[in-house]
Amino acid sequence: QDSAWGKLQTMLPQWVHESKAYTEDGQVAAYIPELARAPQNVLGICLMDAAGDTVVGGDHDFRFTLQSISKVFTLILALMDRGEEVVFSKVGMEPTGDDFNSMLKLELVEPGIPFNPLINAGAIAISSLMAGSDPAAQTQRILQFFRDVADNPTLAINHAVHRSESDTAHRNRSLAYFLKDNGVLSGDVEDVLDVYFSHCSVEATCTDLARMALVLANNGVDPIRNLRLMPRRYVQIAKTFMITCGMYNASGEFAMNVGLPAKSGVSGGILTMVPGQYGIGVVGPALNRKGNSTAGVHLIGKLSQEFDWSLF
Ligand code: GLU
Repeated sequence: QDSAWGKLQTMLPQWVHESKAYTEDGQVAAYIPELARAPQNVLGICLMDAAGDTVVGGDHDFRFTLQSISKVFTLILALMDRGEEVVFSKVGMEPTGDDFNSMLKLELVEPGIPFNPLINAGAIAISSLMAGSDPAAQTQRILQFFRDVADNPTLAINHAVHRSESDTAHRNRSLAYFLKDNGVLSGDVEDVLDVYFSHCSVEATCTDLARMALVLANNGVDPIRNLRLMPRRYVQIAKTFMITCGMYNASGEFAMNVGLPAKSGVSGGILTMVPGQYGIGVVGPALNRKGNSTAGVHLIGKLSQEFDWSLF
């Protein structure tokens, strides 16, 4: 293994310790009541190389729900099920500059489709494209895909989070009904929302995120099993969205300071990667005002600086 790996093993505990102080500056998401139960001071990380060897730090066993991180993989699955033409008739390719759950610009992309598949409106549109005869079958298909990519057959939905999110999702409901009115969603709106809440509620650890990221880092091939799981073109599309829209309205800042494709979620997870080398999963539930893990962003920034990982 290279010298970077050795330095990681030696230095990671100290870097995690330093970044952990930043959990104090953030706030755990509370708009989904069940998420508000997450502890403030958690910070965990896992880095995985192409042989499957890992370096872990902090609270790497902490379990959290994927939330928006799941949107990267439902996008890829929709592309696999329906192809680019259908997917991009439902969502655009541009960042919004608005909040992830904003209603402001839904009318603006011709013909009334969400700006991109990583904001809530776009991800709900993507959820409606999953192959399967009913919501249960669609959810099962998504879960099976996540399990395949994570190489973990035990990945499962956290039903308490699913229920909590569904009970309080007034805004997502209104986005979805608006999309239905615009002709973007076909089928029953509540069925589509159920699929969406389900994939957001899949529970994982940093190690699962790192494993999933490793597949993206290798353009759709799992280097450990030497198995192609998704077409290279669809991974390219997903990674492009991660750079332009993956870190909410801090995507430009993250691209400038860290320079890696990444996707965060409101439970504090961040999936990122060093293309061709490592998959990385981070969790820190305390979020900054842009909705990203305070300590997580600090830690990834430190690593990128130390190892000169920026793609730019
Ligand atoms: N399920 C969450 C929601 O729809 C995902 C949000 C996120 O992680 O950005 O609000």
